[in-house]
Amino acid sequence: MLMQSARPLGELENHAEFIARHIGIDEAGEQHMLSVIGEASRRALIDSIVPRSIARAAPMQLPPPAGEAEALRELKAMAAKNKVFKSFLGQGYHGTHTPGVILRNVLENPAWYTAYTPYQAEISQGRMEALVNFQTMVCDLTAMPIANASMLDEATAAAEAMTLARRSVKSRSNVFVVAGDCHPQTIEVIHTRAEPLGIKVLMANSADEWARALEGDYFAVLAQYPATSGRIDDLRADVVAVHARQAAFVVAADLLALTLLVPPGEFGADIVVGTTQRFGMPMGAGGPHAAYMACRDEFKRNLPGRLVGVSVDTHGNPAYRLALQTREQHIRREKATSNICTAQVLPAVIASMYAVYHGPQGLKRIAQRVASFTAILAKGLEQLGHEPRPGGAFDTLSLHTKDITESIVGRARALHANVRVYFKEYICISLDETTTRDDVALLWKVFAGDGQAVPDFGAFDKGIEPMIPPQLRRTSAFLTHPVFNTHHSETGMLRYIRALSDKDLALDRSMIPLGSCTMKLNATSEMIPITWPEFAHVHPFAPSDQLEGYAELDQQLRAWLCEATGYAGISLQPNAGSQGEYAGLLAIRAFHESKGEGHRNICLIPSSAHGTNPASAQMAGMQVVVTACDDSGNVDLADLQAKCEQHADKLACVMITYPSTHGVFEMQVKELCALVHQHGGRVYVDGANMNALVGVAAPGEFGGDVSHLNLHKTFCIPHGGGGPGVGPVCVVEDLVPFLPGHHAGGVPGKVGAVSAAPLGNAAVLPISWMYCRMMGAEGLKLATETAILSANYISARLRDHYPTLYASANGHVAHECILDLRPLKDTSGVTAEDVAKRLIDYGFHAPTLSFPVPGTLMVEPTESETLEEIDRFIEAMIAIRQEIRRIEQGEWPQDDNPLKHAPHTAAALLKGEWPHAYPRETGAAVLDERRHAKYWPPVGRVDNVYGDRNLFCSCVPMSAYE
Ligand SMILES: *Cc1c(COP(=O)(O)O)cnc(C)c1O
Repeated sequence: MLMQSARPLGELENHAEFIARHIGIDEAGEQHMLSVIGEASRRALIDSIVPRSIARAAPMQLPPPAGEAEALRELKAMAAKNKVFKSFLGQGYHGTHTPGVILRNVLENPAWYTAYTPYQAEISQGRMEALVNFQTMVCDLTAMPIANASMLDEATAAAEAMTLARRSVKSRSNVFVVAGDCHPQTIEVIHTRAEPLGIKVLMANSADEWARALEGDYFAVLAQYPATSGRIDDLRADVVAVHARQAAFVVAADLLALTLLVPPGEFGADIVVGTTQRFGMPMGAGGPHAAYMACRDEFKRNLPGRLVGVSVDTHGNPAYRLALQTREQHIRREKATSNICTAQVLPAVIASMYAVYHGPQGLKRIAQRVASFTAILAKGLEQLGHEPRPGGAFDTLSLHTKDITESIVGRARALHANVRVYFKEYICISLDETTTRDDVALLWKVFAGDGQAVPDFGAFDKGIEPMIPPQLRRTSAFLTHPVFNTHHSETGMLRYIRALSDKDLALDRSMIPLGSCTMKLNATSEMIPITWPEFAHVHPFAPSDQLEGYAELDQQLRAWLCEATGYAGISLQPNAGSQGEYAGLLAIRAFHESKGEGHRNICLIPSSAHGTNPASAQMAGMQVVVTACDDSGNVDLADLQAKCEQHADKLACVMITYPSTHGVFEMQVKELCALVHQHGGRVYVDGANMNALVGVAAPGEFGGDVSHLNLHKTFCIPHGGGGPGVGPVCVVEDLVPFLPGHHAGGVPGKVGAVSAAPLGNAAVLPISWMYCRMMGAEGLKLATETAILSANYISARLRDHYPTLYASANGHVAHECILDLRPLKDTSGVTAEDVAKRLIDYGFHAPTLSFPVPGTLMVEPTESETLEEIDRFIEAMIAIRQEIRRIEQGEWPQDDNPLKHAPHTAAALLKGEWPHAYPRETGAAVLDERRHAKYWPPVGRVDNVYGDRNLFCSCVPMSAYE
């Protein structure tokens, strides 16, 4: 057995211990791997792979690497510059108590946060059960028939609802009516999204304008319920009017309020969206939080984002899997319903657990308390001569404070509290789960004039009625499924969380060799700061002098990422790679418009591109033209040139991925960029593969104009089972003015907001900051080189078993390699999917299946895996190849062998009779028990087709298990 020792410090600077913790390969391991590959040194290997023409001009300029303790100390000092005031700001962001059992066992637990998106259903049953709970919770609270498993934030969810409605209704109008008292950030994102699609947003800023707008021509309308100012409108008659015009009614609704309010599904809403933040996820300066979307049944096949459905496994037992749109962008490309790929799974799991923990009674109690406190607050304010505006309220009051608005705000600040100014002369106050009697008294004190006595809470306490209009009070039941009514003791909750995570394979158990996804170490020291109160408990629209810690974090991280990419400007606002693509394409579009060339709308995309690329281009109003790849997998330059010439007048940009999605450094990338520039286009370099570039080559130097990064790939933010992500958009100098702004959040910009919050998923940025700070320039470069080394080692060792499909002339690959399994189909009937499922028996998550080439597996080991783990994976792959050989030789039938029946559950292996052509112990696939604990999949192979034919996306009734 090969023992791994940390890389000796000799090669590294002082305080660089972390580098050797992050990188799994030590010097002896490196020597061994190089000898297998046949290169003399790491330097020689890298020089033979990375084209000389693109090598970085100079090393990155980053602070020297800090040790874990030192980096945490430094970040703590930065965090202390945030001021944690009591927030009454509302506007979609509320204080919440994350139950301790959920905080520690989900949010801070690598079994949950290091999991990947559940494409491999059999090893993802735990998180998919949590997501089905989420979907059920949303369906029940909104009273809608179907809901997806999270959107990126409320504002983008509202924008997605706009396009979902447009695809789904009969009306051919291009007008979208928006009620003026929606959250300002939602209105802003809708404007950004509507413009490139030719949708006209008609704002209705008063009751009169709303009534008039509803009599006009439109395809859908949006109203907030309760409104951003707190008012609760009876929307029932409006829904009837909208439906009479063959249009859709979209409601943005607060889930906690819906425990007490008539839910939108009961008054005919077509689509309901909102955030689940206040269900246990800290405000975190704006994210990450799971937004939700629910819709009527007829719209379900157009629903964007992920949808978890219930199917059956080979043994006929219920089993979950992603339904319908799984990887739909890869199939439908520019016709995809949306570009959402990475979503907000971890926050969705937390919201669902919050509902499981509290149950319907608990949620109602929390809501009633909030509503009662709001009513008490109103009484006291009335007594002080400040009568809240009429129209009912759940948790938010608005007051017409006219010329004393600023002085009220000032008095609140002096008491470390924030209240919201609304249209200059109004103040809104929002209460939440964390509000105490003292908080209410504090607010009264703020409003009490000289000599006025502060009201007495006890005077209003008895028999207080919430301010919810009687005809809008909810009478229907919700969350009646046993899962929401069982785990209410902490012991029960702890075991439920543990039971679900035990069903899943995450990075805390084995490597996840997913090409393009870069599943590397998410170090604990990187994770620790995200739940520090100074980062977790601040509101995204708090005054800027309370967010100075975040401002510094933003500024430093952007500077470091500029160094890493060679770009001039970066925005951290996009909250997934797909959103970074979208923001980048908007920048290109706005640039062409600024030059009077707004007609440039052609986006060239090679056939090998990730599916989000064409989907994003479509959303940015561009027309996609596909360009070919040659036999070696490279962009076909002749075809690209022909298309550039053909579309020269209208060329907006080309979108490439570098190194390519085929896992090779194309030698002619500089020429490619020059060619596009010659024809007036800009070059978008998809940065998902930056793990092969950091410290070695910079897209901003070799010809890229725009890139997005995936901080949840290259820069250590964990995948969270499918999110959260951060997708910074990076641009060259002349595109800097076109980075996304955020007017509601005080960030100027020619292009509007692309996310609800100015800093997007701000609360996970400390992870990438810690990574860069602890690695420094040399550590980051070593990580890149080791990632390339490990991929080449796997490719070399598996060459005789599974040939690598694409390599450069010298046989080398970049940081990932595509194993070609297609020939096996003819010789043995085995598909790449069979091998993927068989790997589960051996305790591994499969590599990326059938992307970018159908019938292949794309392997990316990353720099963080140890040689021992990489060898264990290789041995499993070789053992599987030997099994295939036995099928090829006729020893096992093509339809009865350990691959076709993989994965094997313990129950199937322990059954009385064993009807198969291979022995049970072969089915179990235990390579070496002493070295690795056996992982037992909870279900057999899941039937995808059955699930899509019988679409069912809520909690399974208990009778199904009988
Ligand atoms: C992951 C990935 C994306 C999309 O990023 P998300 O964060 O999932 O939206 C785009 N392009 C490539 C090549 C990727 O690997």
